[in-house]
Amino acid sequence: MLKLYNTLTRRKEEFKPVSEKQVTMYSCGPTVYGFAHIGNMRTYVFMDILRRVLKLNGYKLKSVMNITDVGHLLADSDDGEDKMELAAREQQKSPYEIADFYTKVFMEDIAALNIGKPEVIAKATEHISDMIKYVQKLAELGYAYETSDGIYYDVSKFPGYGKLSGARLDQQIIGARVEINPEKRNPQDFALWKKAEPNHIMQWQSPWGMGYPGWHIECSAMSIKYLGKLFDIHTGGVDHIPIHHENEIAQNEAMTGKKSVNFWLHGEFMQVDGGKMSKSLKNTYTVAQLKDMGYEPMVFRYFCLQAHYRKTLNFTFEGMDACKKAYERLLSVLYKHKTSNKTTPKEILDKYRADFQDKVNDDLNIPLAVGGLFTMIKEDYSKDIYNLAVEMDKVFGLSLEKARPLAEEDNTQHADIPAAITALAEARTEAKRNKDWAKADAIRNEINAAGYELIDTKQGYELRERKN
Ligand code: AMP
Ligand code: ZN
Repeated sequence: MLKLYNTLTRRKEEFKPVSEKQVTMYSCGPTVYGFAHIGNMRTYVFMDILRRVLKLNGYKLKSVMNITDVGHLLADSDDGEDKMELAAREQQKSPYEIADFYTKVFMEDIAALNIGKPEVIAKATEHISDMIKYVQKLAELGYAYETSDGIYYDVSKFPGYGKLSGARLDQQIIGARVEINPEKRNPQDFALWKKAEPNHIMQWQSPWGMGYPGWHIECSAMSIKYLGKLFDIHTGGVDHIPIHHENEIAQNEAMTGKKSVNFWLHGEFMQVDGGKMSKSLKNTYTVAQLKDMGYEPMVFRYFCLQAHYRKTLNFTFEGMDACKKAYERLLSVLYKHKTSNKTTPKEILDKYRADFQDKVNDDLNIPLAVGGLFTMIKEDYSKDIYNLAVEMDKVFGLSLEKARPLAEEDNTQHADIPAAITALAEARTEAKRNKDWAKADAIRNEINAAGYELIDTKQGYELRERKN
């Protein structure tokens, strides 16, 4: 029996789909005006694990993810600069070129992390007419009103407003900087449609003149279009609970007159060194940057699986190093199982399989399931253990079929590396620790110029004489 924690009811519930035939699921996708960082990726790994566990339980899936290629405005507010246009101006490209570029990078990143592609990827710019129809309908039903700068949703017309966030909403209101818009009836009213200034690049014809859609209507219009008026699961990061998802509920329930999503699931945030991840702190790493630093995407995925999705996960390089070691060990022990001719009794295999299923079906307790995998591989080497690990990997997605022996110790290293070169290598390690990548690169060049080569390894680095 699969149990999932539902943010709406604040408890674990037995999962039952609306239709036995397929599970319908919607996940808030990326805003493609910049690179997605590892925090965003944690949320998509969570979405992926959920999809895999649903499949393990025998369900067919129809899951949808949107691509926000209409620049939505700063944070959750309806005012401020359009981020897509800002990026376009800075990079002297059209917003469409910007969106295409970052969408492509995003797709490459999720593929590298073994995040399965949802059945439907829906671009906001290809669904503007659906959004306009949705807004018109809300206006007809009396939930929307027009101001000089747009069409707004009147939250006072929807008695259920705030039910998803509950206590979180109070905190939100106290903490929020509510922008002053004297034409709004209630501070929490949000834009369904914005009227565009003539210099706004992305704008579309509508019954209210030229303009562009609000962010929240995007997810409501596309989820209902592909999944129907009642669907099973909606996912996103916890930051979406108080505003974005609250607003989606307000829109959907006004539109359909009923509950529209049965299970709301939210992934907790990833922090870096115990604090917030932000561009200004230069700690928003990307999958590609980690790779350049010697951490394969699978090591990052393994890192994500260390914490339950509803717990904050603290990213540190010490943690990544430990994961890199553990992942290598896992692959090398599995290799010994893979190359063994022995077998394991069926009862033992069944016990591990049942234990695994219990754990992943208990609100996706992946960290415990990974623990179970490590216990299992301590069994005597046998091909059956390898096969069962690969079967479990349908959920973990760690490419365990690539089991391989530990990299051979490198014997080519010379004992007589000059102290000055070793000192440079140490200084580079220090620069890397301080995240001073420019300095680290400069030191590596210096080492090269002196006729030596520095190779990053699991343990740190190796130095050898350059052969050319
Ligand atoms: P965005 O592109 O900003 O809409 O974010 C994409 C997804 O990443 C959303 O589901 C966010 O909730 C999620 N997200 C943003 N920051 C983090 C973080 N630090 N840790 C985990 N998820 C995040
Ligand atoms: Zn959304």
